[in-house]
Amino acid sequence: MTRDQAEVLVIGAGVSGLSTATWLAESGVRIAVCAAEPPQATTSAVAGALWGPHLVGMDGRVTHWGLQTREMLTALAADQPDCIRLASGIGASRQPEAAPPDWAAGSAGRCAADELPAGYLAGWRLAAPIVWMPGYLEYLSARYLAAGGAPVQIMEFGTLADAAGVSTAPVIVNCTGTGAAALVPDPSVTAVRGQIVVVSNPGISEFFVGTGPGENDLTYLFPHGDNLVLGGTEQAGNWSREPSPEVGERIVAACTQVRPAISGATVLAHRVGLRPARPSVRLDIEPLAGTGRQVVHNYGHGGAGVSLSWGCAIAAAELAMAALG
Ligand SMILES: Cc1cc2nc3c(=O)[nH]c(=O)nc-3n(C[C@H](O)[C@H](O)[C@H](O)COP(=O)(O)OP(=O)(O)OC[C@H]3O[C@@H](n4cnc5c(N)ncnc54)[C@H](O)[C@@H]3O)c2cc1C
Repeated sequence: MTRDQAEVLVIGAGVSGLSTATWLAESGVRIAVCAAEPPQATTSAVAGALWGPHLVGMDGRVTHWGLQTREMLTALAADQPDCIRLASGIGASRQPEAAPPDWAAGSAGRCAADELPAGYLAGWRLAAPIVWMPGYLEYLSARYLAAGGAPVQIMEFGTLADAAGVSTAPVIVNCTGTGAAALVPDPSVTAVRGQIVVVSNPGISEFFVGTGPGENDLTYLFPHGDNLVLGGTEQAGNWSREPSPEVGERIVAACTQVRPAISGATVLAHRVGLRPARPSVRLDIEPLAGTGRQVVHNYGHGGAGVSLSWGCAIAAAELAMAALG
């Protein structure tokens, strides 16, 4: 299969693009993917990634996509234990009156005070799928190719019409994350910058997510075998992809306060990703003026792109297949 033979051109090779392309390819549609950056260089590769709708415009669709994705990730965990597992851990707050996350309400048990790190006043025991994104993106890429998709081509487009110019595909699926701000263009898309540090895992098996010491900080740690992902920041409107050494140090210090075993762990990487924030996820179809093509949009997942990935991929694929007739 080559780009010229594709019925659908997917733009973007993060978790949204690869999940959508995989679902379409496995449904028998001829697919090509073009992206400015390969999967391992995307925001998706930086995510922690714990299932749970966070920093995303909530509506009924989001709840449905999230539950559908949770079910699919849970089923995949048995097949792909190296990159997905059902993990347990603690969600905690520095405010005594805080409530558990909505998605866990009803199932979360309140932590006893002695289970909480210093400075935290409320907490809950949670369970959810957790995904090692570098491995998961590798898995998705292989699954997409095995289903007959054309190899990802590295190509950056200035406009959607430019994308239409490199392919005869009647349908284009736009999975460009923060790139949609310029590509569509869509001024309602903004970046919420997230910096993380990956360290060698000193033997931690449970995750922790808590409010952070600063206004734009969270403190979290997600164990993935030998790796431990430490976070992190949530800086709205900051588009810098350069890790800041000072922020990295602050993240390690805050996580070490929560789990002192982290002290002395080897720092393996500093990474930054830009969460594609939008008042609501864009998942719809429209004609691309002057080209005779249709564009399915699937972007704006904020801090929940992994958590919504399969639900949105299936919804986007259905729109694309209906347009193909
Ligand atoms: C620190 C951090 C922690 C996170 N933790 C979680 C978590 O625990 N759980 C969770 O669910 N989510 C989490 N997220 C959010 C999640 O990572 C994003 O919502 C998700 O990765 C968005 O995926 P995407 O495929 O839509 O976009 P991206 O991963 O950004 O991929 C976009 C793709 O489009 C391509 N592209 C963009 N513009 C163009 C263009 N003009 N031409 C061609 N190609 C283009 C890019 O090159 C890339 O291939 C986190 C994010 C960060 C930064």
